[in-house]
Amino acid sequence: MIRERAYPVEPWHVRETRLDMDVLAQSESVFALSNGHVGLRGNLDEGEPHGLPGTYLNSFYELRPLPYAEAGFGFPESGQTIVNVTNGKLIRLLVDDEPLDVRYGEVLAHERVLDMRAGTLHRSLHWRSPAGREVRVNTTRLVSFRQRSVAAIRYEVEVADGKPLRLIVQSELVANETLPPQSRDPRVAAVLESPLEAEEELTTEDGGLLIHRTKVSGLRVAAAMEHEVESPARTTVESEGYEDWVRTTIGCVLEPGQTLCVVKYLTYGWSSRRSLPALRDQVGAALAAARLDGWDGLVREQREYLDEFWDAADVEVEGDPEVQQAVRFGLFHVLQAGARAERRPISAKGLTGPGYDGHAFWDTEMFVLPVLTYTHPAAVRDALYWRFSTLEQAHERARTLNLKGAAFPWRTIEGPESSGYWPAGTAAFHIAAGVADAMRRYVLISGDRELEREIGLTLLVETARLWRSLGHHDRNGQFHIDGVTGPDEYTAVKNDNIYTNLMAQRNLQTAAEVAMRYRDEAYHLGVTDEEAAAWRDAASAMHIPYDDEIDVHQQVEGFTRLQEWDFVDTPSDKYPLLLHYPYFDLYRKQVVKQADLVLAMHWRGDAFTPEEKLRNFLYYERRTVRDSSLSACTQAVLAAEVGYTELAHSYLREAALMDLHDLNENTRDGVHMASLAGAWIALVAGFGGLRDHDGVPSFAPHLSSGLSRLAFSLQWCGMRLRVDVRPHETTYSLHHAAHDAVMEVRHYGKSIRVTCDESVTVPIPPPPDDLPTPEQAPGRAPLLRLPETTS
Ligand code: BGC
Repeated sequence: MIRERAYPVEPWHVRETRLDMDVLAQSESVFALSNGHVGLRGNLDEGEPHGLPGTYLNSFYELRPLPYAEAGFGFPESGQTIVNVTNGKLIRLLVDDEPLDVRYGEVLAHERVLDMRAGTLHRSLHWRSPAGREVRVNTTRLVSFRQRSVAAIRYEVEVADGKPLRLIVQSELVANETLPPQSRDPRVAAVLESPLEAEEELTTEDGGLLIHRTKVSGLRVAAAMEHEVESPARTTVESEGYEDWVRTTIGCVLEPGQTLCVVKYLTYGWSSRRSLPALRDQVGAALAAARLDGWDGLVREQREYLDEFWDAADVEVEGDPEVQQAVRFGLFHVLQAGARAERRPISAKGLTGPGYDGHAFWDTEMFVLPVLTYTHPAAVRDALYWRFSTLEQAHERARTLNLKGAAFPWRTIEGPESSGYWPAGTAAFHIAAGVADAMRRYVLISGDRELEREIGLTLLVETARLWRSLGHHDRNGQFHIDGVTGPDEYTAVKNDNIYTNLMAQRNLQTAAEVAMRYRDEAYHLGVTDEEAAAWRDAASAMHIPYDDEIDVHQQVEGFTRLQEWDFVDTPSDKYPLLLHYPYFDLYRKQVVKQADLVLAMHWRGDAFTPEEKLRNFLYYERRTVRDSSLSACTQAVLAAEVGYTELAHSYLREAALMDLHDLNENTRDGVHMASLAGAWIALVAGFGGLRDHDGVPSFAPHLSSGLSRLAFSLQWCGMRLRVDVRPHETTYSLHHAAHDAVMEVRHYGKSIRVTCDESVTVPIPPPPDDLPTPEQAPGRAPLLRLPETTS
């Protein structure tokens, strides 16, 4: 059942107008603040009640054994799990002699607002204690984009009734918080009991620090805090510290209408190598830097950073205000996940929750990076460096699997394979092609040849080597990649997954091309002309499974002759199927978890004719259940391309509103980063029709009847292309480019030259009008209807 809309529709804010305890954990994810290095869930300042307390540092993990009932050769033995580190968000308040706790007394007003332009989370609370005393609390929180180890909270309490009031503010750092018990859903995280061992605690008058270490992975974390207090009355400030907590207590008696204001500066640092004194100094220095800026300075810098981001990345949507809000929310979270990740992974949940153990998957390269490549390419450069830094482990994994080149892990934090389930883990080799394609796209769009030479070549060569050793030529010379799992995890360990084959084909071709471009460097990597020729041969002989009888491509060889899934007898409460049916049954039937062949038609659209795309789309649409949040955006892209713009709009809404509406009922574990990125993809690649197959940006814009305008900007080799789509025409304009610069784009296949001086407006051809009606699997229609304004 879909919950009523929780957040009012506003273009730049996500506002919660009352505190709803039933969705506390979900709102903690929605209101999470992060810069890609530090992540704070949107827990209430006073810590309780909570859904799931969470404070994360990118790549700060603990190791845990991966036990198997029946072990097998090459199964990973230990997995990595993100750790909930020292909580520095806590600020408790004693109102006269009663603790502020929204479960007691009376909440007269409660509002939280995520401001996506300011990069802050604001909370205002009007509370009456059980004894009848009233306070207004206003807090604003930020995680700085400019200073990556810094977070800050401004906490204000006002006496809201007619008598003097004694207030005690306790601001804390707490390690080893108790976490709620784990559910049996495989998508949530392992719960680690007291993962941190105390190393040092220190207090000053107005703050303190804690240093801890993980027991097995041996990572050290330091958290430090300092406070600035503004009070109209005499105020005491003192701090005390113990192994797992440090507390600064601020006390005063205020007259009616007076306000106590506390600014808490919070800094984090972690390292696997740095000594305890070095880390202590690091967080101390970060505190000094934060205080140098002061609260106002931090707020100003945050705004400036975001102004720059939105100037380049904003998408304007007219006709569906919910989507307008949601696409900004998606972009904001994508930025939060990647902005300061700096050679660390962008995980499936960013730093908003512990879901999937904090692991990064192919989601990063195939969903998040395409968006960042066009909007904030510096973050992509870093993310590619991160993959590159895991190369040694990927070589090692390939050797264990008796393969050549690099086998990147299906899920990981720091590089080793952390998936204990082979068929939907290691067998999903397609991640290698995702890495290669992200590199190809980044170089194409940023023009960053230096990175291509420095790490791109190696990544392409090592992934090409993987494909060449994983696949084989048959007696007729056809190249097959057997026994792998594609994006659809309900069809596992099969031969010739079409997505894998097509992506591997591009990977092999690109590797051969780039090796020719950097012959000396390639020579040092041991690439011979013979080897590059073997890649080209494999690419051109790649087998693409097709069913001649019914004229559709096959997702994997033999897919279209498998038994059909009995959708009619599958009740709606049995979705997601993976939680209710054995994989054995899913694997041998025609049921698709998420876009797979349809995804191939997006990223390798150059390998299909328009007629094939339409036939394939209709066939797979009837069999795709969207049990993964990664599916709807891709279905939107292809629905728009083949002419089903209304259906595309519904899928766009599903992708975009995944977390704001908690459509999969698991936003509590963290937001769905790929789906949030998918909102942008559905709009720009779906309704804008953007493709970058051959090095020229091409568009085939077409709006649904409910959208009256879509406008977006793309970065392209340092220039900025603005695309403004209206129902019957599109305007292309060029910005941030040299006076005489010319950019070539394609509009419905026709070449157009855009310059800074002159924008170009071209008509949109009418849509096809004789299309068959698309059908979904019974019971699996898009989750959200179109807005009412739509006819
Ligand atoms: C999807 C995968 C995805 C993972 C993490 C799974 O449900 O099937 O494709 O990588 O979630 O988002």
